[in-house]
Amino acid sequence: MGEDKCCLPFWQGFRLVDLQVDEQVVRVQLHPSDLAGLRCGGCGGAAQGLHERVVRSIRDLPMLGRTVWLQVQLRRVCCGQCGTRMQQVPWLDRHARLTRRLAEAVALWCAKLPVKHVAEMFGLHWTTVREIDRRRLQAVVGALPPAQPRRLIMDEFALYKGHRYASVVLDADTRRVLWIGEGRSRAAVRPFFVSLGAEGCSRIQAVAMDMNSAFDLEVRQHCPKARVVYDLFHVVAKYGREVISRVRVDAANQLRHDKPARRVVKQSHWLLLRNPAGLGAQERVRLDEVLKANQPLLVVYLMAEQLKGLWTRPARGSGVGSGKTGLARLLTAGSRH
Ligand SMILES: [Zn+2]
Repeated sequence: MGEDKCCLPFWQGFRLVDLQVDEQVVRVQLHPSDLAGLRCGGCGGAAQGLHERVVRSIRDLPMLGRTVWLQVQLRRVCCGQCGTRMQQVPWLDRHARLTRRLAEAVALWCAKLPVKHVAEMFGLHWTTVREIDRRRLQAVVGALPPAQPRRLIMDEFALYKGHRYASVVLDADTRRVLWIGEGRSRAAVRPFFVSLGAEGCSRIQAVAMDMNSAFDLEVRQHCPKARVVYDLFHVVAKYGREVISRVRVDAANQLRHDKPARRVVKQSHWLLLRNPAGLGAQERVRLDEVLKANQPLLVVYLMAEQLKGLWTRPARGSGVGSGKTGLARLLTAGSRH
């Protein structure tokens, strides 16, 4: 294309001096189009002089299925306030190795796809994409109003299969993640309550959590008004393990001399622990036989159903027919927002 001055609207302040296209890459060479109006990249003020010219390789949005590389001649300028600075370029952020529109496109896709997929899609290194995603998330979080939680959900999750754990705290009403920290001990979650402060802690009315965690002691220490609510599924699972299974083993032991009856009880393990609604017709018949023949098992089995009912009973003082439920309301409140 040679030296003919070709100004395109894509690279404001620059003119295209060369264009090379091969099967995979479009290479665009850009030179400054106007020396007047040269501005400092630090403060945006008018530059007092030209210090030096540098050539930078910069990625732009892909074009016609090809990667786009810009070879841009940039100028370092002298500024009365900042000293020597790179010139201001409207489509390029300071120190950036890709154009603003490419960074914006990458950020847009990061909201929809994992970083690894976005990196493959644009042919960028995943650390570059992760950094763009981190800035995007920071902007999203920064725009949120300050959290003032009244009801919390605390949980833990495995970082890697096996050992290392992290703890998470959510606002039960907005479902907003308030805090994540490594570990699942009392000490591990303490920084959350410290950052919430005494006033924030005193606002907390209830905290839902897994029954086996150490979080309850920490909650009681920091939040004087909070009630700890155990998660229904953990309580029911614990009841199954520690009550139903215990009674079933005792019942089987008492049938030492009746081998066929003993086998029926021993094999009823999963029948007793499973949700009755999920049983097939044949499983239902077997369950009925076991329960009919074993009074203690029947009692603990029915108590399990009553235990589940606690989470859906109307809250005390909520009035009949108000539709409000105590524990269930607390645990599911956030989903209505
Ligand atoms: Zn300046």
